[in-house]
Amino acid sequence: MISLGIEGTAHTIGVGIVEDESERCKVLANVIKTYHPEKGGIHPREAANHHAKYISQVIKKALEEAKLDPDEVDVISFSQGPGLGPCLRTAATAARALSLYLKKPLVGVNHCIAHLEIGRGTTDCKDPVLLYVSGGNTQVIAFANGRYRVFGETLDIGIGNFLDKLGRYMNLQFPSGPIIENLAKKGEKLLDLPYTVKGMDVAFSGMLTSAQSYFDSGERIEDICFSVQEIAFAALTEVTERAMAHVGKDEVLLGGGVARNKRLREMIETMAKERGARSFVPRDDLCIDNGAMIAWTGLIMYKSGIETKVEESYIEQRFRTDEVDVKWRE
Ligand code: AMP
Ligand code: MG
Repeated sequence: MISLGIEGTAHTIGVGIVEDESERCKVLANVIKTYHPEKGGIHPREAANHHAKYISQVIKKALEEAKLDPDEVDVISFSQGPGLGPCLRTAATAARALSLYLKKPLVGVNHCIAHLEIGRGTTDCKDPVLLYVSGGNTQVIAFANGRYRVFGETLDIGIGNFLDKLGRYMNLQFPSGPIIENLAKKGEKLLDLPYTVKGMDVAFSGMLTSAQSYFDSGERIEDICFSVQEIAFAALTEVTERAMAHVGKDEVLLGGGVARNKRLREMIETMAKERGARSFVPRDDLCIDNGAMIAWTGLIMYKSGIETKVEESYIEQRFRTDEVDVKWRE
């Protein structure tokens, strides 16, 4: 079965095409086009205009890469939420149009669950705790009692958003995460920053304010980046480990754009090793927001009998991870 998925929850419009090959996900195409604001953060309507401008090109390119005609696609999936309303509506409109035009079934997919399912579909993990670290989201998710449940999350801003905001303050380009990672390699001094862990939740706004005042007082930018990574990632590692112990799972999976960070990977890997567990990271283009993860999740959902009628395909800006009845897993 071949599935085409459209991702459009925030800054990225992506179209992925995947095929199932003995329960595994084979990615045939994964075209990603990201909106970069000229200055400041994402403006939802401008991002949506960007998506509307490029969506047909991105679909065409994905079909070309996969060497498929549109009518060879069996199912159309789209990111139903959570995300920014105008962006979600743009992606959903394209998916509905394709579904109606090609007369193919439509499946609405929860974006956070897709980050986990693409890891299960393309790496060797079977039942992991997912540390989902992206621009807008920071969540610790695991499967329990028939649903994907959020065991911990940020109480204020997402980790990626935190890094981007700090970067903007220090005059770095957007996205700042990768630049901060590079600068951190040259850091030597561990600055004192607030470490906020509450149970399995984390918070970053206190650390942001504190890091900004270090910048104002002339601390080396390399030391600020180093300290921010060490302390923020330690908090993420701690809550992930607590969730693994709580739900009794011995696999950890990373997802989201910040999962590209080598230092975070290293810390999660060390934690996993020390408790006799294994850690997994999907390949880079499957970590960030992308259409292939939506296509794959739509495919396994459809195979379990789930379909979204066009007239019921409303977007859900606040789509909770545990709202979905996960029929495709026993
Ligand atoms: P996403 O929202 O999942 O598409 O991921 C985007 C976020 O990932 C942005 O906030 C980036 O700054 C962040 N990011 C990307 N690469 C890295 C990296 N190497 N280290 C830290 N953050 C990163
Ligand atoms: Mg994401």
